[in-house]
Amino acid sequence: MTQRGAAPDEYPPAPSAPAPPRDDVRPATRYLSLDEARAIECNGCGDCCDSRRTAGFWTWGELPADQYAPMNAGAPLIIPLEAIEGGGWRDRARTELDGATLSMTRFRCAAFTSAVDDSAGSCGLHDRERPARCGEFPVGGEAIERELREHGDAPLQTGAFPRCSWYAMVVVPDADPRRATNSR
Ligand code: SF4
Ligand code: SF4
Repeated sequence: MTQRGAAPDEYPPAPSAPAPPRDDVRPATRYLSLDEARAIECNGCGDCCDSRRTAGFWTWGELPADQYAPMNAGAPLIIPLEAIEGGGWRDRARTELDGATLSMTRFRCAAFTSAVDDSAGSCGLHDRERPARCGEFPVGGEAIERELREHGDAPLQTGAFPRCSWYAMVVVPDADPRRATNSR
C-alpha cells in the first residue's frame, strides 16, 4: 500500500527509521512461495496505515489530487502530515509534490480507527473500495511477481513492522531450496 523510495531533493528528510529488533529477538527469515505468502492474512495491526506508527518512516507515494475522497464520502481519505517542532504531528494540505511518483508523504488515513497509540486498529473500508495499494501490500499486485521473475526472490518490505503478519519473510520460487530451511 505505502512505499519507500528516493525522495526529491526538496522533500524534507525522513525522521530516523525505528530501530529494528535486536538480532536475538528478531525471528529468523522465512522463505515462502508466493502462494504461501498470499495465503497469510493481514492481522490488522494497522502499522502500515499511519506514518506516525513508524515515527514517520513509512510514507505514501503519489497521492492523487482528490486524496481518494470518493472512497470516503467526499472527504480526503489519505491526509498528509507534517512533524511539529518539539514533537507530534499535524495535518497539512496536499501539495503538488505529494503527487510525484517518488513522493514520500507522511500520512494518516481517515478510515483507520486507532491512529497513534501502540494498539491494533481497524480499517473502516475493509469490506469496501480502498486505494489499490492497500490490498496489494505486501504480497498482492503484480510488482512482487515481477520482482520474483527478475531477481529470483522478493524480500518483503515489512522490516519496519515487527507486528506484521509478513514480517521477516522472503518470497521465493516454488522449487527454491531455501523453503526447506524454515524453522517457524
Ligand atoms: S484504507 Fe484501510 S488499509 Fe488503506 S490505509 Fe486506510 S485504514 Fe489502512
Ligand atoms: S503491517 Fe502487515 S499485518 Fe499490519 S496492517 Fe499492514 S499489512 Fe496488515
